[in-house]
Amino acid sequence: MTTATPARSRLGFWAGLGWFGLSTVLFRRRDPIVGSLIVTDRCNLACRHCAVANLRRVDYPFATLQQDLRRLRAQGVRILLLYGGEPLLWHDGTRTLRDVIAEARSLGFGWVGVVTNGTRGVDLAEADLVLVSLDGTREHHDAIRGRTYDRILAAIETATTPNLCLYMAVNRENVDDVEDVARLATALPAVRGVSYNLHTPYPGTEELALDPGQRRDVCERITTLIRDGYPVVNLAAALPRVADLSAPRPCPQCVVVEDGEQWTCGRCSEIPGLCEQCGFTFAAELSLLFCGDPAVLAEVVRRYPSLLGGRAPRP
Ligand code: SF4
Ligand code: SF4
Repeated sequence: MTTATPARSRLGFWAGLGWFGLSTVLFRRRDPIVGSLIVTDRCNLACRHCAVANLRRVDYPFATLQQDLRRLRAQGVRILLLYGGEPLLWHDGTRTLRDVIAEARSLGFGWVGVVTNGTRGVDLAEADLVLVSLDGTREHHDAIRGRTYDRILAAIETATTPNLCLYMAVNRENVDDVEDVARLATALPAVRGVSYNLHTPYPGTEELALDPGQRRDVCERITTLIRDGYPVVNLAAALPRVADLSAPRPCPQCVVVEDGEQWTCGRCSEIPGLCEQCGFTFAAELSLLFCGDPAVLAEVVRRYPSLLGGRAPRP
């Protein structure tokens, strides 16, 4: 009984996702399945490519986050990502991000990930996946994110839970480092994989954007890494559409919630013309998946459970 329950929950979670995907494709549903919750916009860094940190400088109260989580669950969202700012800065009295994850579990989110800059530690055994931003080799990462590379690497090297994923935003400065980060992901025992995004040119950060030739080249190199067996959490079948910016976006199956407000796909959907230049690979992959792209669908079935699994989703 005690061992069968998590196995059943896990099976139920994946079966539920399968049905969601099938019915979305067949009936052209637009219901969300992935929710991103902003717990705070405070951040201890000032990355060159960032457009979201320290605008309000607030930690949203736990009660507000509870309401946001309930609202997401009521819409059918099962996959949750916790974002900041830097989410590990969040607290409300003695409550920390661990309490937010526990609350999400109790409300029935089947998979919970956290996106962090890695400077406040990366050990979060409660999460299914901890995405740790690492923007290339030390030289380029530090040029983009301030002198944090050594601190982040030390946290990753001493991490005790193997639920980490490196998270690299590829831009004009670190474009040559894609393979270095994949090799690093393979060498670090607590790291499960690496996920790449291409820089999205938010106003004021346009100089970091890749040109069309660079986008094509980077996507081909990521595809080669996947074919060579590196643990890359991107879909090779979607990368040509990321390269030529032709994936349909914004993605209706993703929603973002901050302080009771909700946006489809991202808060950035309000910036004119940005979706057409967006390098967020996950949005492109999901929109292609739920449009029924057969190659993307086949790759998700083949590769996602082992890349994103590893822990039993809670009921
Ligand atoms: S760590 Fe994230 S939220 Fe903070 S400044 Fe950098 S990109 Fe922005
Ligand atoms: S597709 Fe648009 S809304 Fe979605 S992440 Fe990209 S820029 Fe933001």
